[in-house]
This record gives sequence, structure tokens and C-alpha cells, in this order.
Amino acid sequence: MTRPLPPSLASIASCISGYDPAALPVEQARAFIDQLVPRLRATEMLPLRSALGRVLARDIISSLNVPAHDNSAMDGYAFAGAQLLPDADTILQVVGSGMAGEPYAGQAASGQCVRIMTGAVMPPGLDTVVPQEFVRQEGDRIVVPAGVVQTGDNRRLAGEDLAKGEAALAAGRVLRPADIGMLASLGQAEVPVVRRLRVAFFSTGNELRSIGEPLDEGCVYDSNRYTLHGMLQRLGVDLIDMGVVRDDPQALADAFSAAAANADAVITSGGVSVGEADHTKTVMAQLGDVLFWRIAMRPGRPMAIGRIQAEHGDAILFGLPGNPVAVMVTFYALVRDALLTMGGATPQPLPLLRCAAAHPIRKKPGRTEYQRAIVSPAADGGWQAATTGSQGSGILRSMSQANGLMVLHHDQGNVAAGELVDVLPFEGLL
Ligand code: AMP
Ligand code: MG
Repeated sequence: MTRPLPPSLASIASCISGYDPAALPVEQARAFIDQLVPRLRATEMLPLRSALGRVLARDIISSLNVPAHDNSAMDGYAFAGAQLLPDADTILQVVGSGMAGEPYAGQAASGQCVRIMTGAVMPPGLDTVVPQEFVRQEGDRIVVPAGVVQTGDNRRLAGEDLAKGEAALAAGRVLRPADIGMLASLGQAEVPVVRRLRVAFFSTGNELRSIGEPLDEGCVYDSNRYTLHGMLQRLGVDLIDMGVVRDDPQALADAFSAAAANADAVITSGGVSVGEADHTKTVMAQLGDVLFWRIAMRPGRPMAIGRIQAEHGDAILFGLPGNPVAVMVTFYALVRDALLTMGGATPQPLPLLRCAAAHPIRKKPGRTEYQRAIVSPAADGGWQAATTGSQGSGILRSMSQANGLMVLHHDQGNVAAGELVDVLPFEGLL
């Protein structure tokens, strides 16, 4: 089967009005990348429990009614609601009982009721449950005071959770614990998921040393590969850690071709800045279709984006800047959703928390700024956000101290104390 030719980078750029690679707004860069990246189609079947965090490959249509029968939502007494007296006690005779998994086998007539437990199937013809704490028991009768229940109360209808034939989950969903439970309630033992995306990554720069090596004069330990490892692991992709690649054209070319041969996406850090004296950019430029951007963002700015040809198909290149905070911010702002999309997921917009700025913040319109923020409850019951102090893009500690990224939007200017700002929280529940 021949694959349709992917659009060239130039043709994608021509669709973006006012495209300027030297001052590209974040939103345009995101739109560009979204058009560039291919979507994985290969799927595999996994046992249900192993599918947590994986991308659902096909829509799941409910094969059953869940619950399968009308059943009681409370411990109490089931009866036909039509006989309830609006202004007086309703007196009913208890003729049997139904438990969860052990339905009442008889037939309750008018004036009768059935003792019933939560989850027990509603006996035929009975549609209402009065909770036990609302009634008085007198021998084999119960007294239901007027007004404590109405017809249909405390009864769960068959199929109210999932109706047979209804769409339960859509393809592209990243499966969460509730989804796994829902699939279990349908009796589904195996789930079709998209195969994991393979991401290769390496660091470039002659000053970098790997952990375990002596730290020579003027050198730093390579930390980017570790933050990238963590961020990628959280996304649930398959990782190919290729270490530090030294600044040598042949070593770099070999690394890129090995990465592209084994991975769907290649992420590098370092070597894409303007005044860069090393070979990374030159080698990247020879890989095929590669663009060098200056993004209107801070931190971040320089980034390379492209496509590397390989036998299995093209690999997408994300050449991130070298500064440790810039790597993380560009990853979250530009790469994360792209990798999710490549892996077959439908990325959902990340929720932003509106927080009162704890102090004034300087901001120039014309670029998106991501400041490291510490979010805490405010006295008025809302949230407040303070920045972590120095916002230097080499200060990785600021990312570690922060619990969110304050997003100061492209057109936004200076922020006054107390003004509401958007913050992307780091923590999520599920
Ligand atoms: P570059 O973008 O290559 O000019 O690098 C910018 C800054 O980030 C320089 O100070 C580099 O030493 C630093 N840097 C680059 N790569 C890494 C890395 N993998 N780990 C830690 N720092 C790095
Ligand atoms: Mg460098």
C-alpha cells in the first residue's frame, strides 16, 4: 500500500498567515507542528489492567446494559409507587426479601412490599424503594409516612450507567482508572490500544559530562536527558536514551540516523541557538526537511523542527534549546501535545487555574512567557500565584520549587499585584 506523501514543511508554512520563522508566536508553532506530525495507526490488544495510560485505538460500544436490571439504590422496602397516599401513612405488608445477587422470586401484590438491599434486582411490577430509616416497622407491616418518597425514588434503571449500543469510550482516549473500571463493567477482557510511540533522545554539547564521568574544568553534568526522561516517561512513550553525543559531524550524523531508524520521534537538546559554534545545526540542516525557529516565547526561543527520513517512514525531529528550563518549557508548550497526537491520542487542553498575582510582574507584549509559579490558597478563598524569583532559563531549581507555570499570554503586558493570571498546575488527580 502506498502512503500519501506527507506535506512538506514549506507547504505547511505557506498555510500560516504572516509566518515568520524568526518570531513565531507559540500558537502558530503549535498549529504548524500539529499539521506536521503523522499519527500512529498500529494497534495491539492488551489485557484490561495493562491498558491503563494507553491510547484507546477504537471506539468502544457498550455490548450490555449496565446495570443489566432495574435495582435498588438503598437498603429499604420496594413496592409499587401508585399506592402511595399523598396525605396519610401508607401501610404495606412485607412478603419477602431480595438481596444483591439473590432476587425475590415471588410476586408482590397491591398492599404488599419486599424487603430489599442495595443492588438487589427490583421485583417485577415494583418501581419504588423507601429507605429503611424512613419507615416504622409494626410486626410484618411497615408504615411509610406521607411525603418521604415519590414513585420511582431510589430505583436505578437498567442501562442508566451504560446503555447497550451506546458509545462508551471514544478512540484516542488515554485510558484512566475509571475507564478501566467501565470496560470491566462491560466484561471486556482485552482492549485495543495504539502501540507505544518510540522516542529517541540525546544531548549535544562538548561541555556536557554524563553522570559517573569526572567533571572537567568548565563542564556541567548533562541534566536535560534526565528531565526529558522523566517527562517522556510520564507520557507513557517507549524511551531510547542515546546519551551525550559529542560535537563532531560524523558522531552527530550517526546519532541522528540511528535515532531516526529506531524511533518515531527524535528529541535533542542544545546546539540550536543563533550563535552556536558547534556542528549540531549544520548536521540537522543536512538531515532533510528541517527548519530553525525563533519562537516568541520565554524561556525557549530557539528550536529546530523537521522530518528525518528513515526506512520505516519519517521520524519527526524536535531540536530543543540547551538551557535546562527552556527544555522543560518548550517540551510542555510545543512537544507534549505533538507526541500525544503522534501516539494516536486526542490531546485535551490542559486546564488553567486563574490566580491572583501575589506581586507585580514585568511582561513585554509580543511573546508568551512561562514563569515558574508557586500557587497557594488565597485569603479570599481563591488562589494566588507568586513567581519563584530569578527566572533565568538555566535555573532548573526554579522548576523544582514551582508547582505550576504562570502563562503570560502573547499580547499580555505588565501584571499588577492582585490581577488574575493563568497558571498551568503541575499536579493532576488521575
Ligand atoms: P546551547 O543551547 O547548546 O547553547 O546551551 C545553552 C546552555 O544550556 C549552555 O549553558 C549549556 O551548557 C546548557 N546545556 C546544554 N545542554 C545541557 C544539558 N544536556 N544539561 C545541562 N545543561 C545543558
Ligand atoms: Mg551547546
